[in-house]
Amino acid sequence: MLKYCRSLPIVLLLLFAFGCPLQAEELRWFKGNLHAHTNRSDGDASPADVIRWYLEHEYDFLAITDHNVVASIRGIVEKDGRRLLVIPGQEVTSGMIHITALNVSGEIPSGLELMADEVTEYVTEHFRTKGLNEPRALGFSLLSQELKVIEGVVDAINAQGGLAVLCHPVMSFDVEHLVQAKGVRFIEIWNANVDGMYSVYSKWKKVPLTGISTTYRMPTRGSAEYRWSQALDEGKRYYGIAVDDAHHFSGSGALAGGGWIYVRARELSWPALKESLENGDFYATTGIIFKELSVTAEGEVTVEIAPEPKRTYTIKFISHGNKVVKSVSGTRGSYTAREEDVYVRVRADGGVNHMAWTQPVYYEGINPKEIA
Ligand SMILES: [Zn+2]
Ligand SMILES: [Zn+2]
Repeated sequence: MLKYCRSLPIVLLLLFAFGCPLQAEELRWFKGNLHAHTNRSDGDASPADVIRWYLEHEYDFLAITDHNVVASIRGIVEKDGRRLLVIPGQEVTSGMIHITALNVSGEIPSGLELMADEVTEYVTEHFRTKGLNEPRALGFSLLSQELKVIEGVVDAINAQGGLAVLCHPVMSFDVEHLVQAKGVRFIEIWNANVDGMYSVYSKWKKVPLTGISTTYRMPTRGSAEYRWSQALDEGKRYYGIAVDDAHHFSGSGALAGGGWIYVRARELSWPALKESLENGDFYATTGIIFKELSVTAEGEVTVEIAPEPKRTYTIKFISHGNKVVKSVSGTRGSYTAREEDVYVRVRADGGVNHMAWTQPVYYEGINPKEIA
């Protein structure tokens, strides 16, 4: 038996069948990006130009997340009959620890002051030079110090009623951080301007999946999706987000449009989006669109891809242990989660950097924390 409304909010059929308050016809999909920069930090475009780009590319919502600056624009922006909800945010930047704060109004301190002075010096120097000394040789645990920063930043975001997202784990977080962090449920499993680069060049495939962590974590510990999978296996119920982390809207560089999410919500407002995000009623994508995403009362997960010409698709159902329990070549696939799967999530592939990921669906009766 599956946990219905709490664990499987993506299931409209179940919402009907078990009397949850939302009605299917009231829900629709909204497209949005939760991580973008302007020239208020290291982007190359004004907030107005950034907003225009997302409006013209038919996004429904956008979070502006400059480094250590809270965006001043918020609310619905309209142009040529299109509406974009602008969510004020900040990318709280503490050395290499980056956490986006969504829908906050006051600036979130970086949290670096929570570290011991010698650690801050080390991290600052490390960030500047990218020299890779082994921190343990310096007499402190970088992990414990960084966990203090994560905790301080996440607490400050939650205290404002905001929503925290751990950014680009390949750069900022090892699985140990993801497992031990508290008060945060969202991680970027695809940041187009970090993961896209490493996917294209396949660098992370050429290094072992385990090894000594460094502050500048890059690919030595596996992809963001792999770290997500490891954290899920340790009982952490993270939801995975895709973002573009756009910095550059002219010329080349960290461009816009390489990753986003679709949220199924009752209306285009932050309270409605937040509710659906917290219920896991969304999926992450770099281009694949699901025309169906559902789970039946028997726990059968189904996705159907809206196909594009000249593309072929693979749909993988992935369980605890990062195990592919079913793989389908085509645009439609179903799988019924078994007890031994613990959870099942979908990854769809349609070519290089053309993917989509659903959130994990859990099997009732298993407490993931009890899984070794
Ligand atoms: Zn960042
Ligand atoms: Zn960023």
